Amino acid sequence: MFFLIMKVVSVEGIVIKCTPFKESSKILNVFTPEYGIIGVVSKGCKSIKSPNRLISENFAYGTFNLSYKENGLSTLINGDVKNYFINIKSNIVRYSYMSYLIKFVSEVYKESNESNLFDLLVNGLSKIEDGLNPKVICNIIELKCLEYLGIGLNVDRCAVCGNEKITTFSESKGGFVCCDCVEGECSVNLKVLKMLRMYKYIDINKISKIDISTDVIFEIDKILESYISEYSGINIKARNFLKNITS
Ligand SMILES: [Zn+2]
Repeated sequence: MFFLIMKVVSVEGIVIKCTPFKESSKILNVFTPEYGIIGVVSKGCKSIKSPNRLISENFAYGTFNLSYKENGLSTLINGDVKNYFINIKSNIVRYSYMSYLIKFVSEVYKESNESNLFDLLVNGLSKIEDGLNPKVICNIIELKCLEYLGIGLNVDRCAVCGNEKITTFSESKGGFVCCDCVEGECSVNLKVLKMLRMYKYIDINKISKIDISTDVIFEIDKILESYISEYSGINIKARNFLKNITS
């Protein structure tokens, strides 16, 4: 004999996927800091009159009041949207970044169970919503995620010998290298190296303006794309589309 225990909880979350269910309902996959990624039934939410219509949309971010069931489908009681990400959703470029980031961060979460990822994602999306360069924000999030995957880049000193006088970046050595440890790696502009280090340590919340040259932005994007596809084990096909987008 066993008891199915349901409890009512109020959690912050973001809908990362929604699937139609029966005639008027949806199954939501909600990413939450407390419970991870959970399945939630939102009954009747497809009806225009339903108060749960907006909180049950793809990528809605807000507070979810749930009848929570561990290891099973929870049920949405009601919710409050905190951010609709209207600016992101009205622009195909920003929207593509949002879709990619949500997929990428959920994959990293599945690998790492790191609850900080929720704030990283929501803070990053809020900055893109505010109009900041989505490629830069996306790269900052990616770089921070590498730590959680156990493949963090060493951008403080030479990844081989620890020398602080770094000269370029080496993908196979996992970070910066000094001139004694270079073995045929291409040279990378020092501005790019400096900015890469900045990306790793900056608090996304504190960014109010981004002033980085396009060349540097693209170079960093290239480095991260190559490293992530080579070492993370995460399928980043969706990223191909973002590669050549300029803003
Ligand atoms: Zn070295």
